[in-house]
Amino acid sequence: MEHTGVRRIVAGLVALIFLAALTLASLWAVRPPSPLGPDAPAGEFSGARAYAHVAKIGQNVHVAGSGAADDVRAYIVRTLQDDGLDPRIQDAVGADDALGDGYTMARVRNVVAVLPGTNPTGRIFMMAHYDSVQVSYGANDDGAGVATLLETVRALKTGPAPKNDIVFVFTEAEEACLCGAEAFVHSDPLAADGGVVLNFEARGSSGPAIMFETTRENAGVVGVYGDSVPYPVATSFAVEVYRILPNDTDFSPFRDAGRFTGLNTAYIDGSAVYHSPEDRPEYMDQASLQHHGSNAFALARAFGGADLKTLSQPSASDATYFPVLRYLVRYPGWLVWPLAILALLAVLALAWLGRRRGKFGFGRLSAAFGLALVPILLAPVLAQVLWAILVAVRPGYRPMLDPWRPDWFRLAVVALVATTVLVWYALLRKRFGSWALAVGGLAWLAVLGIVLAAFAPGGSYLTALPALAGGVAGIVALVVRTGWVKLLALTLGAAVAVVILAPTVLLFFPALGLATGAAPAFFAALLGLTLILLIPRRAWWPAIGAALAFVVFLGVGLAVDSFDVRHPAPEQLMYALDTDTGQAQWVSGDDRPGSWAKQLAGGRADLKDEFPLLRDDMAAGPAQAANLPAPALTVTSDSTAGGQRTVTLNLKPQRSVRLAYLQVRDAHVISATVDGRPVPADALAGEFGVLFHNVPTDGLVVSLVLDKPGPTTFKVLDGSDGLAGLPGFIPRPAGIGVEGSHTSELVMVAKTYHL
Ligand SMILES: [Zn+2]
Repeated sequence: MEHTGVRRIVAGLVALIFLAALTLASLWAVRPPSPLGPDAPAGEFSGARAYAHVAKIGQNVHVAGSGAADDVRAYIVRTLQDDGLDPRIQDAVGADDALGDGYTMARVRNVVAVLPGTNPTGRIFMMAHYDSVQVSYGANDDGAGVATLLETVRALKTGPAPKNDIVFVFTEAEEACLCGAEAFVHSDPLAADGGVVLNFEARGSSGPAIMFETTRENAGVVGVYGDSVPYPVATSFAVEVYRILPNDTDFSPFRDAGRFTGLNTAYIDGSAVYHSPEDRPEYMDQASLQHHGSNAFALARAFGGADLKTLSQPSASDATYFPVLRYLVRYPGWLVWPLAILALLAVLALAWLGRRRGKFGFGRLSAAFGLALVPILLAPVLAQVLWAILVAVRPGYRPMLDPWRPDWFRLAVVALVATTVLVWYALLRKRFGSWALAVGGLAWLAVLGIVLAAFAPGGSYLTALPALAGGVAGIVALVVRTGWVKLLALTLGAAVAVVILAPTVLLFFPALGLATGAAPAFFAALLGLTLILLIPRRAWWPAIGAALAFVVFLGVGLAVDSFDVRHPAPEQLMYALDTDTGQAQWVSGDDRPGSWAKQLAGGRADLKDEFPLLRDDMAAGPAQAANLPAPALTVTSDSTAGGQRTVTLNLKPQRSVRLAYLQVRDAHVISATVDGRPVPADALAGEFGVLFHNVPTDGLVVSLVLDKPGPTTFKVLDGSDGLAGLPGFIPRPAGIGVEGSHTSELVMVAKTYHL
C-alpha cells in the first residue's frame, strides 16, 4: 500500500512537471528570435543592419509634412537607389474613407519602388509608413516597418530575382488619416490591378511580430504564411477580435478596396512608448525587429515565387490557425462546426459515462456545471479590480494600456486566476467530487466552442479543441483500469489545452493591456478548469502557494515599475484660442487629468462648438490669450445660379501649422472639392467639415456648391504642435511625460467668418 501511494504521488508530480515544461515551451515558441548581427550572411535579414536604419529614421520627430519627414523620405530614396532600385515619389491627396465626424484629407508623398519580377503572375505590395505622430520619434511606429522593408530589399537583391513584381510602398500620413495608403490605392497606377499586400507595423517596442489581420477568405494567404515564415505567430482569433475593434492601419484602405488579399503584422508589447516621445531607437527591442524581418523576408520570397493569380483572389473560406511550438496549425473554415459539435458530443459522452460509473449523479453534475461559472466570471472581475487598485495607488497608470514594465503584474494576474480556481476547487471538491467539477468545467469550454463557431469562427478552436481533448481523455481514463494509462490520457488531454491556451494568455496581455486584464484572465481560468483532474486532492496547499505568489509578484511589480525620467507618467494637454472672443483654454484629452495637467485644466468646458476637433464636457481651464493669428479665409470666386451658390475659398494659415479645418455652418454642401480632390457624396450627408493635414504653403483651395445663395458662416481652425512658450504654460516636472495621442501638445487657433 505504502509503495503504490508513493508511486501515485511521483507519477502525478511527473505529469505536472511535464505540463509545466510544456507551458514554458509553448510560451518560448512565441517569443521573438535573437537578432542577427551586422556581419550576418548577406542573403539573410539582419536585425542589427535593420536597426541602423531605425537609428537614422528615429533621430527626430517626423510627422507628415515636416522637414524631418522630408529627411526620412530622402533617406529611404537614397537607400533604395543604393540597392539598385529606381524609386519615385507619388505626390497626391489622400482621404480618410472611414467616415467619422468629418472628412480627413492630407497631401502625401509616398515612396514607391518596384523590384521587377522575371515572369510576373501579379504584384506583391510590401508596405510601411514613414511618418510618426507629432510628438513621437516613431522609431518603432513605424521605423521598424520601414527598416524591415529596406533590409528586405537589400537581402532580396543578393539572391536571384523573384518571379513576381514586388512593389515597396512607404506611405506618408498614416498617423493622420491612413491617407498615404488611401492615395496609393485610389490613384497609383500600380495599385489598379490589385495583388497581395503585406503591411508591417508596431504598436509598442517589444514582443513577437504577430500576424493579426488578414483580408476576408484568408485561407490562401495564410497558407503561404504558415508554409514560409520561420517564426509563425498568428491566430485566427486575433483576426476576429481585430474585426470588432475600431483600430485601423494602412492595411484598411487595401482591405476595403476589395481587389487585394493580404496580411498585416505588428509587434505590440511595450505599448507604453506607443505614439509618445519615448518611441526612440534605444527603447526598441531588436529581437522584435528581427522577428518582423525574418518573417517579412520569408514572405517576400514565398509570395515572390508563388502563383499570384489564385493568391490575389479571396479563397473559399477563412482558415483557422494558431501557433503550436513554432508551427502554425491550420485547417479550413468548414471544419470549425464539425469540431465544435464533436467537442460537445465528447463532453456529453463523458458526462454520460461518468454518471454510469458512479462518479456523479445528474444533480451533482448540474450543480458543478453552474458552479464552474464562478471562476470563469470571477477571475476576469478580479483582474479588473486589480487594475483599478493599481490605478488608485498609481494614478499615472490611468491613461496607459500597460505600465512600463508589466511582466510582474501579468504574473500576478495569472497567480490571481490560479488562486481563484484552486480555492474554488478546494471548497467544492469534497461536496461535488473532482469528476463532476472537471466535467462541468469542460462543458463550458464545449459550449463556448459552439458560441464562437457561430459568432467568431476563427476563435472556436480556443475552447472546442481543449474540450474535445479533455472529453476524450476523460473517457479513456474512465474506461481503462491501468493507473498509469489513466494518468497519461488525462495528461495528454490537458497538454492540448496548454499548447493552445497558454500562448493565448501570453499574447492577450499586450493585445488589450493590463487595463483589460479580464481578457487574459478569462482564458487563464478556462485553462485552469481543464487541469482539474490533475490537481492534487489537498488543493489548499497549492491554493495558498498561488496566493503567496500573487502577493510576491504584485509587490515586485510595484517595486520594479516606478515612474522616472526614462519611464514617465503620461499626461495630455492642449491649448485652444478662440479669436472671435479672445478667450483661450488649456484642454486635456484625459477625462481625469493627472497632477500636472490638472493645474492648468482643472475644470470642465463644452468646447465642440468653438473648436470642432474637440468634444463637449472636457477637462479644461482658462488660459492667457497668446498672440497667435487665426487662419485667413478668403473668397477667390463666387457665383450664384438657380438658388445654388458656387464658391471657391482659400484657407491660409498665418503661422506654421500641421493641420487646418474648415466647417460650413448654416448651409448644406451639395458638392465639394478640396485641393483638387472631390469629396464623396456620403461625406456630405451631415454638417460639412474637412480636416486637412500638410496644408499647401499658398493655402488650401476648397470649392463648394451650397444649397442657398448669400453669405454663409464658416468656422476655421488650424493646429500646430508644442506648448512651450505659450503664456502661463507650466513645464512638466521630471517624471511626467507626454501622452501618446494624435492631439497631444496641439495648439489650436479658431475663427468664425461670414462670407
Ligand atoms: Zn503606425
